Amino acid sequence: MTTTRRPAPTLPAPTLEEARRRDAADPLAGFAGRFHPVPPGALFLNGSSLGRLPAATAALMEEVVRGQWGDRLAQARTQWLDLPRHLGDRMAGVVLGAEPGEAVVSDCTSVNLYKLAVAALRARPGRRTVVVEDDNFPTDRYVMAGVAQDAGGELRTVPADPDLGLDLEVLRAALDESVAVVCLSLVSPRSGALLDMAAVNEAVHAAGALVLWDLSHAVGAVPLSLTACGTDLAVASTYKHMLAGPGSPALLYVRRGLQARTTQPVQGWYGHREQLAMRREYDPDPGIRRFLTGSPPVLSAVAAGAGLDLLAEAGLERLRAKSVALTGFFQALAETLLVPLGFRLAGPPDPAARGAHLTYGHPLARELVPLFAEAGVFVDHSLPDRVRIAPVALSTRFTEVYEAAHRMRRVTQDRMADRTDHREGNRGESGGSAV
Ligand SMILES: *Cc1c(COP(=O)(O)O)cnc(C)c1O
Repeated sequence: MTTTRRPAPTLPAPTLEEARRRDAADPLAGFAGRFHPVPPGALFLNGSSLGRLPAATAALMEEVVRGQWGDRLAQARTQWLDLPRHLGDRMAGVVLGAEPGEAVVSDCTSVNLYKLAVAALRARPGRRTVVVEDDNFPTDRYVMAGVAQDAGGELRTVPADPDLGLDLEVLRAALDESVAVVCLSLVSPRSGALLDMAAVNEAVHAAGALVLWDLSHAVGAVPLSLTACGTDLAVASTYKHMLAGPGSPALLYVRRGLQARTTQPVQGWYGHREQLAMRREYDPDPGIRRFLTGSPPVLSAVAAGAGLDLLAEAGLERLRAKSVALTGFFQALAETLLVPLGFRLAGPPDPAARGAHLTYGHPLARELVPLFAEAGVFVDHSLPDRVRIAPVALSTRFTEVYEAAHRMRRVTQDRMADRTDHREGNRGESGGSAV
């Protein structure tokens, strides 16, 4: 591309009236009341670490624990056998843009990464290189390193820009006929940079390899169309934007056309063609069930259904529009409130080029995040010196974003004043970390 991009014009700082106007016009405003209330005064902007608790989840858990487990005893068991498949079908439709029979929930994201990376290597005999990028979540890298080692192959790391994400040309340059699989996050866990799924798939397919997508920061936040993009393999955690709760089982997706030709290494009874026949030999199910292993965590899987109901009702397009507006609103506030205090946008400046979170660098990030929490603003610290801000599109109001940015400014000003006082009172001493 040869077009030069101009930086977006700086808008005047949004006012409280503007925030109120936007809340009044928000078609998703009613969803805030569908969540368990946060403590008084709390502003939750940490939706990419753990999604909020839907109010319906607690009642659903009560029904499953007391009603099904307690009162109906083991009779309820049979309805749980199909839970991984049933939930996977619903998630395929609501968040993945995939077909029924292409997704299941099972295990955690790390284990699903392992299963699908091995499956990919088996599907590309003769190729033993696994490609990762250096800014991905550590677990992805650890798992891929182990898989490459077991295959007697190479782990090839491509550099990604810590703010703007992976450049497609850099990825292309790392591909050759030894590469079996490329593992990437669609939305960078740190910077929030959003990759072009179709373009990456096309580049990797042209080199004869498969792509294994980690959609942990994308599902439930960014509308996806895995089928239309020709996506091969994907995993995702469900306790972030999917609102499924701590320890909820992860998503696993395999394109239908690939399923019968791929096998996974953790062969368990849930993956057997006739699960309840108790056959002597392992014979994998012809479809997506072959990627399952054992019993799902039923309570967590059931809880995932309540979060999914909310996402389905709101619709991913409307969610995304609100999310883009919320992060853009924070960005506009930060320009005048936080950037003058040393905050630096450490992600793509265009809200359409990132997922549902935005990241700022600040030399005091590690100290500031707990101080923000004391002031009731819940955001996340990411290494080495970043603050990650993730409004929850379904429950965060524009007035809350307005208030959060102002509180963050006050806390930062106080902290910086403390340091100045401290330094002036201790001339000659060099304690603590310098800005
Ligand atoms: C949150 C997250 C995970 C979580 O992995 P688990 O094995 O489910 O704990 C994995 N990858 C990415 C990119 C994540 O953001």
